[in-house]
Parts: sequence; C-alpha cells; structure tokens
Amino acid sequence: MRLTRYAAAAAAFGVVLTGCSSEAGNQAEEAADATVEVEQDVEFEAGTTMAELADAGTITIGTKYDQPGFGLLNPSGVPEGFDVQIGTLIAAQLGIAPEDIEFVETVSANRESFIQNGQVDLVIATYTINDTRKELVDFAGPYYEAGQDIMVAAGNPEGIEGPDDLAGLNVCSVEGSTPAENIRTNYPEAQLTLFDVYSKCADALTNGQVDAVTTDNVILTGLVAGNPEGFELVGNPFTEEPYGIGLELGDTEFRNFINDTLEASFEDGSWAAAWDATAGQITGTEAPEPPAVDRY
Ligand code: GLU
Repeated sequence: MRLTRYAAAAAAFGVVLTGCSSEAGNQAEEAADATVEVEQDVEFEAGTTMAELADAGTITIGTKYDQPGFGLLNPSGVPEGFDVQIGTLIAAQLGIAPEDIEFVETVSANRESFIQNGQVDLVIATYTINDTRKELVDFAGPYYEAGQDIMVAAGNPEGIEGPDDLAGLNVCSVEGSTPAENIRTNYPEAQLTLFDVYSKCADALTNGQVDAVTTDNVILTGLVAGNPEGFELVGNPFTEEPYGIGLELGDTEFRNFINDTLEASFEDGSWAAAWDATAGQITGTEAPEPPAVDRY
C-alpha cells in the first residue's frame, strides 16, 4: 500500500514553508507543537542521493503501520508517529514537504530487502542497528534507544517478571525481529509463536493463544495504550535496541547527511518536539536525552 500523506501532516503537525506559510499549515499549527520547516532552495553536490531526491521532489520511506506512537495508520489511513516524524524532518532538509513523502509499509522481516531492492530510499521503522544487519544495509543514527520487554494479560496471571519466566510458556513475537532472535537463541525453553506484525501478537494474547508478547518496550507501550484493560507491560527491559535509519549499503554521503540532520534536530528542539507530539503522547513521558549518533 502506497500513500502520500498530506492529511497526516496537516492533522498532526504544523507545516510551514520557509517564508510562506500556507493557510492549511497555519490551521494545523494551532493544533500541534511539532512544526517542520521545509528548506527552500536546497543545493547538493551533483550525483549524490541528496541531489537526486531533492531534484525528484519526493522520497520513499518504509515504516510500520501498526505500532501506535512510532508508525501507525491513523483513522484517515495515513501514517503517523515518531518514526514518521523523523522521516518528515529528514525530508524537510532535502526540500521535500510532508505531502511529497511516499510512505510504504515495511514489516520487520522485509526491511533489508526493501532497501537492497530500491523499493524505499530509507527505512525508519523501530529498526535496531546491529552487526548482522550492517552487512546488508547502512544505518544512520541512532535516534532513540529502546529495550526488549514483555507484555502480558492484565493482572499478569503467569507472574512473568523477565525472560527466564517464559520457559514452558507461549510467547509471541515477529519474524525477522531482534526480540524473536533473542528468545530463540537465549531462551529456547520458551515456545515461540511468530507473526509478521505485532498487532497479530496482541490479538493472540487477547484470545489466549499466547501467554505473553515480547518486543521493544515502546512498541508494547503503544499496544497497552490501545487496550489498557486487557494488557500490561512487565516493565523490565533486558536488551538495548538502538533505533537507526536504514539506507543503501555504502552510501556514506547520504548517511552523513542524515546523521548531521539528526544531530541538528537534537540541538534545535525539533527532535524533542517530534517526540512530544507522537510517542510522548502514548508513553506520557517527556522526550529523553537523545542518544549519541554513531558514525561507525
Ligand atoms: N527493534 C527491533 C527490531 O528491529 C524490534 C522491533 C521491530 O521488529 O521492528 O527488530
């Protein structure tokens, strides 16, 4: 499914074109905090990915569609969340307005192949930077640090406090994700059920097919927010999941550009504003200290 997302930008964020605020932008601004300034008259060295994208006036970004707070299709069918907003900040530095971004759904297992096949220019999708993935794609960032945690039915009937307690129980995660790999490798006594997306794990917990769901704490927090009567978070993270922006292997100029853009957003408050308008609404927490970008 491919979408451009004007409505999302207008609904969730103020959109200001430098030097000429649109009326729609002004209206949206009243309802939101995170204003994206779209650079005008950008210039990049010929032949770079930045120049290509700026000339095309559009960028294709893979993100999640079922993770409240990070990447979720809103009721109007357009994606919103912290990952979506990070993509909007990067596009803005390329002179690309939010309505000209083409979002594509990526699930955990197809992120590398979507980048390698050129189906997307970037993946911003709760995407943990690790050495295995670095052999296939490059990562800018990190722009956030999550940690693997566990979600259980409200009341925690099995008394699960951490991954060791999953032995002999049914736990759900997603194919191609680091949390699934961690359970398979380090907690082999857990019975792992795998789906393609986390919303299906939430359904499996609701109908009693599994005893627990495991993935990053912020993803689980979004699922709990969607069903606070039904679910609770164990709240005891046991891994480090630094979120990166995936791009084509070897495109160092583009990676440097994204890292520069991230660092500028850490400094000028736009990263924190993006958090406050999206994930912060779900977690109820202020924007944390941004992580240090890793220019490996
Ligand atoms: N951050 C983890 C990963 O990249 C889990 C979240 C996800 O599956 O998107 O695999």
